[in-house]
Amino acid sequence: MRGESARQTAQGTGSTIVEPWDAHNRALVENVHPPAWVNPEPAPRYNLVVIGAGTAGLVTAAGATGLGAKVALIERHLMGGDCLNVGCVPSKALIRAARAVADVREAGEFGVEVPGAPRVDFQALMERMRRLRARISKTDSARRFRDLGVDVFLGAGRFTGPDTVEVDGRQLRFRKAVIATGARAAALPIPGLAEAGYLTNETVFSLTDLPRRLAVIGAGPIGCELAQALARFGAAVTLLEALPRILPVEDPDAAARVEKALAKDGIRLVVAASITRVERAGGEKVLHVGAGGGTEAIPVDEILLGVGRVPNVDGLGLEAVGVQYDPKAGVKVDDRLRTTNSRIFAAGDVCPGYKFTHNSDFQARIVIQNALFLGRARASALTIPWCTYTDPEIAHVGLYEKDAAARGIRVKTFVQELEDVDRAILDGETEGFVKIHVREGTDRIVGATIVARHAGEMLPELTLAMVHGIGLGKIARTIHSYPTQAEAIRKLGDAYSRTRLTPFVKSLFGKWLAWNR
Ligand SMILES: Cc1cc2nc3c(=O)[nH]c(=O)nc-3n(C[C@H](O)[C@H](O)[C@H](O)COP(=O)(O)OP(=O)(O)OC[C@H]3O[C@@H](n4cnc5c(N)ncnc54)[C@H](O)[C@@H]3O)c2cc1C
Repeated sequence: MRGESARQTAQGTGSTIVEPWDAHNRALVENVHPPAWVNPEPAPRYNLVVIGAGTAGLVTAAGATGLGAKVALIERHLMGGDCLNVGCVPSKALIRAARAVADVREAGEFGVEVPGAPRVDFQALMERMRRLRARISKTDSARRFRDLGVDVFLGAGRFTGPDTVEVDGRQLRFRKAVIATGARAAALPIPGLAEAGYLTNETVFSLTDLPRRLAVIGAGPIGCELAQALARFGAAVTLLEALPRILPVEDPDAAARVEKALAKDGIRLVVAASITRVERAGGEKVLHVGAGGGTEAIPVDEILLGVGRVPNVDGLGLEAVGVQYDPKAGVKVDDRLRTTNSRIFAAGDVCPGYKFTHNSDFQARIVIQNALFLGRARASALTIPWCTYTDPEIAHVGLYEKDAAARGIRVKTFVQELEDVDRAILDGETEGFVKIHVREGTDRIVGATIVARHAGEMLPELTLAMVHGIGLGKIARTIHSYPTQAEAIRKLGDAYSRTRLTPFVKSLFGKWLAWNR
C-alpha cells in the first residue's frame, strides 16, 4: 500500500513521491492533492489562468480572486509547490531539530550536564517534520482555495492556443495567463552518478533512515543547510564544492564563519573538487574526486545533490503561444514580468533571477497589478533580502562590497562583531557580525550582511531602512531594548555618528564646553 498509494495519489507528471505513506503524509496529500478531487466545470472565460500552485501561483490566484477576478489555478502535483513540500518548510523543520542536537551537545557550557552524547531519533524528527508540514499545508489546500473562489484544477496545464490552456482534457479560455511552474533540482553529468542513484531536495525529505555516510555535492545554501543538519543528526558528511569556497555568492567573511561552524559539526569540506566519476561497489557508492593536486575515492552510503535549479518550462506549449525561454535560465520576462506574449506573465522560480519564496510572493503581487489593472509595477524595484539557515545564519540585503565596486559606488563599511555585543555573549552566540555598507559621505544603507544565530530575524530592520530610506544615523537614534543581539545594528549607528564628529566639530564642542565650565 505504502509507496503504491503515494504514487497513485501523486498523479500527473510531478516527480516528487510522497513517502512514507503515513497519517501525516496522507493529511498533506488530502490538503494539497486530494485524491477524490473533482475538477470544476470551466467558466466561459477567466480573467486569469495560473499554471502552477507554488507560492507564485497561490499568491497570484488568491490576490486576484480577492480583488474580484475570475481565476483558474492549475497544479499538476502538490499545491504549495517546492516551499511547502520539498523546500523551505521541511528543511527548516529539520534545521530546528539539528539546533536542538547542537544545544544539547553544548549544554555543558551552560552548566547543564547531559550524560553522554545526545541520541538522535531520526525517525521521530522526520515524523515531526511531516506532522508540521501537514499542519502548515492547510493554508495551501485545494479546498481553501476553492472556498476563496478560485477554480482549482488538478492536472498538467499546457497552452493550446492564443487564449487557451488545456488541463484534464478541458480548455480554459483566458484573458491573461500566468506561468508559475517553478523549478526543479539540476542534475550533474558525472559519469556513473545517475546509475549509482542520488537524493535531491525532492527525495531527501522522504528518508526514514539516516545515511551513515553522506556526500553532499554543492555547497550553496541548500547543500550547506542540509549538510549541517544531517551531520548534526550523526551522518558522516563530506561536502564537495567545485569552487574554492562555500556559499560563493555570499560575503567571503560571512562564508568563512559558516565554514568554521561546519568544521565544528564534523563536516569534511573538499573545495575546488572535481568529481570525475561515481561507481557502485557492493552496498556503497564511491566518488572519485580530484582536489588540491591529488585524487581520492570517497565511499558513502548516499549522495545528496544540491547544485542549483532548472526552470520547469517543458511541456507547457510555450512555443505555440510565442513565449520565449531559455531551458537553463527560464521564461524570458521584462521588468513588468510580461513574457514575449503580452497576454502572458510569469513569476517565481520559473523566471531568471532570485529563487526565494518571498521573491515569488512579491513577483505575484506585481503580476496582479500589471496583468489585471494596467499597472506598471517593476520587478527591479523590489529589494530582496535572503537568508541561509545554517548555524550561524547568513542574512543579506542589497549590495556586497564587490557589487558596489563593480558599479562604481564608493561605500564606507561598518562592522560590529558579536563578540562585543552583551546579549550574544550571554547567549553564547558570539560567532558572527553585522556588516553595513553606506554610500560614502552619507548614511544611506546600500547593503548589509549579518552572520548570527538568528540573522534572518535581525535583517528586516535593515531591509526596512533600505526600502524606506532610513539612514544609519536614524538607526543610531532608535532605542533598541537591552540586551538584544539587534543592538549590534544600533551600535553601528553609533559608529556612523562618531564619524560625523570631525576634528572641527569636536573643537567647536570643546570650546563650548570650556566656556560653560
Ligand atoms: C531545499 C530547499 C529549501 C529552500 N528554502 C528556502 C527558504 O528557506 N526560503 C526561501 O525563501 N526559499 C527557499 N527555497 C526556495 C523556494 O522553495 C522557491 O523559491 C519557491 O518554492 C518558488 O515558488 P514558485 O511558486 O515559483 O515555484 P514552485 O514552488 O516550484 O511551484 C511551482 C508549481 O508548479 C507546478 N507545475 C509545474 N509545471 C506544471 C504544469 N505544467 N501544470 C501544472 N502545474 C505545474 C509544480 O508542480 C509546482 O507545484 C528552498 C528551496 C529548496 C529546494
